Amino acid sequence: ICREGRVLRVQGLVSIVRDDQGQQFRCATRRLLKTLSTDQRHVVAAGDHVWFRPEGDGEGIIERVEPRHGLLSRTSRGRQHVLVANVDQMIIVASAAEPRIKPNLIDRYLLTAEKTEIRPVVCINKIDLLDPAELMPLVGVYSQLGYQVLLVSATTGQNVAQLRALLSDRNSVLTGQSGVGKSSLLNAIEPGLGLRVQTVSAESQKGRHTTTTAELFPLECGGHVIDTPGIRQFQLWDVIPEEVAGFFRELRPYVSQCRFPDCTHTHEAFCAVKDAVADNRLDFRRYESYMQIQAGDEV
Ligand code: GDP
Ligand code: ZN
Repeated sequence: ICREGRVLRVQGLVSIVRDDQGQQFRCATRRLLKTLSTDQRHVVAAGDHVWFRPEGDGEGIIERVEPRHGLLSRTSRGRQHVLVANVDQMIIVASAAEPRIKPNLIDRYLLTAEKTEIRPVVCINKIDLLDPAELMPLVGVYSQLGYQVLLVSATTGQNVAQLRALLSDRNSVLTGQSGVGKSSLLNAIEPGLGLRVQTVSAESQKGRHTTTTAELFPLECGGHVIDTPGIRQFQLWDVIPEEVAGFFRELRPYVSQCRFPDCTHTHEAFCAVKDAVADNRLDFRRYESYMQIQAGDEV
């Protein structure tokens, strides 16, 4: 009599679970499950695959939480709080213009993707506002690093079908500063969806304590998008300066060749990273990003 479902969001001790017919249930969590967990409140997170027993009118009890992958979590006071589970990819949305593109910000989101081991896709919107040829140097750098890059326009619909195909049947987190066109892209993919996301975002911004709640929005083409203010601003959570180099994938082959094992690749002599930057084996702009991030500078 147990049913399989997906946790769309968690409100205090109640989880909103959607079954595969699209029906939603307000679920409590079985006490036994809670005692097995070190963090009783957050034993269930948005995105979890669960088995639940329907009870009464639209209610139920969660009996089991399936093993997770792709976690976005935050550590506070030594405890890991899972914000979303089972995230398949991170769509890093930037805009070609208005606001102007900020490669350093893209690098920060990529760093988060590397740390969480969630596959990133760089999605540059508003390509109707400039000659896409202008973006080619930047696109080239990311492509060479093995990151997928998509150039789109929510306004003209260019390559929106490609983005839709990428989102279908996957659970995607959308990140990117406000104004780059995340809601517009979602609306171009599925009319009404962007508005739904915006409504919830506005609601969660009211209460300071709910800004990190995550919500999954089911897509007609299958899969879900996750887009809430708390998730968008998650860049650089819990990253310490010493681990930054390891999250710049092109630096990894060099760091072990530096003279000093604790080399920060900024001011030291005999630094393999700096040598590689000097003779153009590494991209100078990415290296600048690295230096700013490890120094703890703001964008
Ligand atoms: P969000 O804050 O990331 O959700 O951004 P919005 O979707 O609210 O878009 C911000 C502004 O950019 C709006 O005025 C949109 O009309 C505009 N916009 C969104 N996508 C495009 C695009 O592809 N081209 C152009 N020219 N404008 C766009
Ligand atoms: Zn070095």
